[in-house]
Amino acid sequence: MTTSRPRSEQLYAEALQHIVGGVNSPSRSFKAVGGGAPVFMKRAQGAYFYDVDDNRYIDYLCAYGPIITGHAHPHITAAITRAAENGVLYGTPTELEITLARKLKAAIPSLDKVRFVNSGTEAVMTTIRVARAYTKRNKIIKFAGCYHGHSDLVLVAAGSGPSTLGIPDSAGIPTSIAHEVITVPFNDLDGLKQALERWGDDVAAVMVEPIVGNFGMVMPEPGFLEGLCAMTREAGALVIYDEVITGFRFHYGTTQTFGAFPDHAAIEPDLTALGKIIGGGLPIGAYGGRKEVMEQVAPLGPAYQAGTMAGNPASISSGIACLEVLEQPGVYERMDALAAKLANAIKDSADRHGVPLTVNRIRGSFSTHFCAHPVTNYDEAQDTDGEAFAQFFRLMLEQGICLAPSKYEAWFLTTAHTEADIDVTIEAADNALRQMAR
Ligand code: PLP
Repeated sequence: MTTSRPRSEQLYAEALQHIVGGVNSPSRSFKAVGGGAPVFMKRAQGAYFYDVDDNRYIDYLCAYGPIITGHAHPHITAAITRAAENGVLYGTPTELEITLARKLKAAIPSLDKVRFVNSGTEAVMTTIRVARAYTKRNKIIKFAGCYHGHSDLVLVAAGSGPSTLGIPDSAGIPTSIAHEVITVPFNDLDGLKQALERWGDDVAAVMVEPIVGNFGMVMPEPGFLEGLCAMTREAGALVIYDEVITGFRFHYGTTQTFGAFPDHAAIEPDLTALGKIIGGGLPIGAYGGRKEVMEQVAPLGPAYQAGTMAGNPASISSGIACLEVLEQPGVYERMDALAAKLANAIKDSADRHGVPLTVNRIRGSFSTHFCAHPVTNYDEAQDTDGEAFAQFFRLMLEQGICLAPSKYEAWFLTTAHTEADIDVTIEAADNALRQMAR
């Protein structure tokens, strides 16, 4: 099967006239895979996308993570419909918010109190403000390659070493803001130690994706999170886990409750940022943590944060319904098994065809890195063959398999993918890798 997409090309040309870059998020453009028109979808159902040219794709993009029950899951659709019929926005509290807050608290023990916002970006941005308010310090330490949304403080790149101040990673961010951020390599406790030794007295928080989802899927090495938490607390700073991708992705809970990784002691961060899956596909974010830290937030405390759309009944209803689906027994085990079958088969194909490939799989998600070395940090993820990924991406798309258009993004399984979808994908990947070997 080879897809033809004239209508997508037409719409892209039109979109370019009206929408900056033709897309409403840069990751949707095909810039990182050689350019051209992205595919314009018109419908999605279960594990499938249908584009404007009536091609069908098996979806592994899954909207960059939020879609875990497949598209238009009937339980979630019914909840959204009910919410729409009852009015989508009140500007008053609702009981629904308490229900979702309770569900999050039951699954994530470090949350004494939560607050709902509209995106992961907002959630992360506010955890930083709250940590600064609580500690009365300014600086933040984060890890290279981890993505925490597009607020000024987290769009800062590393300076020349682990203890040097950051530099803006986007135009429009003042150097003075970048100087509040220090970026050290992931999985590098020595780098963190150096940064804390140099800046510790002014560090409000160390922020980390405890399992990385933004330069492929990368596990923390045994002892990394334990060391990070111990050093951070010794320096009088707070630990912030950005679980926007990892929350409810691998199991019903977050990295901090991930008993499936016996090497990683369950660690309770001071603050956690959530998003994506907890909205079941509608816009949402949430942050939460220890009572005395969260009580910094207005109206109780001096740290201001607000939102006209925050906690809206549609997003909250969708989130509750999504978690209800994920609570069912066997849901994660099934995604895990399908992802294992797929990831292993892709790796076997690559080996057979002599294409260097590293596959990092964590339960129902994995990343494919075109390289012969392991990928445990951002430098190693950057040092991979982007052109090979772009070729693979396009060969898969031509066969009706939709991946994220970037070598750094993960493949996500959903509860809707079937054994047959996996078999079709394995065959497509084998075809692609065979062609790449020539
Ligand atoms: N944090 C992490 C770990 C993310 O992966 C993302 C988005 O991909 C964000 C924060 C930002 O979330 P949003 O795109 O909802 O603003």
